[in-house]
Amino acid sequence: MMEEKWTIEVREKTEKHPCYCDSDHKYARMHIPVAPKCNIQCNYCNRKYDCQNESRPGVTSEVLSPEEALEKYKLVKEKLSNLKVVGIAGPGDPLFNFEETKKSLELIKNYDPDVTFCLSTNGLMLSEYADEIQKMGITHLTVTINAIDPKIAAQIYSTVYYKGKIYTGEEAGALMIEKQLLGLEKMKEKGIVCKVNIVMVKGINEHHIEEVVKKVRTLGVFMSNIMPLIPAKGTKFENMPLVSNAELNALRNQCSIDLKQMYHCRQCRADAVGILGEDISFDFRKGACSTNK
Ligand code: SF4
Ligand code: SF4
Repeated sequence: MMEEKWTIEVREKTEKHPCYCDSDHKYARMHIPVAPKCNIQCNYCNRKYDCQNESRPGVTSEVLSPEEALEKYKLVKEKLSNLKVVGIAGPGDPLFNFEETKKSLELIKNYDPDVTFCLSTNGLMLSEYADEIQKMGITHLTVTINAIDPKIAAQIYSTVYYKGKIYTGEEAGALMIEKQLLGLEKMKEKGIVCKVNIVMVKGINEHHIEEVVKKVRTLGVFMSNIMPLIPAKGTKFENMPLVSNAELNALRNQCSIDLKQMYHCRQCRADAVGILGEDISFDFRKGACSTNK
């Protein structure tokens, strides 16, 4: 159900956003990898550069400057007339690279005022940038919230860097949760469409996810997207068990009683371009473009 306060423009954009609508995926999205740094360390994250063969969040072949992101946008728009959404989903956190994020979106908006802007953040800085997010014309936002219990969060986030101090353990978990939930509240006030991503980690948060979904529903979130852990090499979680599709979908079905669920997430790279599941590989610096189904 769409919130009353969303404008007609936001509703129309939601219907053409390939991650927010369930209909046949005819619209393309483009992630611009302009945000290399992150202010936290999740135990499942390994941000790699120059990796053409891996497809998962945090991976990109290149980090672009805002000016390069605009040039890439122009080239992609020429090839994909169905391109509707520009998102920043890493490789780090867009709000921890705020100047690059802001500049990139300004440049692209000047060139194409109709584009839909989308951000994906860990939520630590969300409440503090709420006004700026609205001013930049961001209409869709994803926050990854893996737990609302500091004890569980402490097993997922190894460090959190906030205002010059490094937090660890339950203190880090509690800070993340406080800031993420406050951020969602602010987004609700501003009429920004929010999705919550949750990484399902067997043995850590799988029995807690329903509680997370119930909580974020009270904060006006449009949909949650439960994703299976990808045990990436070189991370603390590299030997964690895999989640099967049956387990994942059973949990999504259970959570769908409380909130709309996303079933079609592709766990895209930070430089993904194209229709979901039919990405084109577009190496901006080499000017190379190929299909990557
Ligand atoms: Fe990696 Fe994102 Fe976690 Fe930062 S917030 S450590 S970029 S997964
Ligand atoms: Fe959409 Fe999932 Fe890809 Fe993000 S990772 S762009 S939510 S499909």
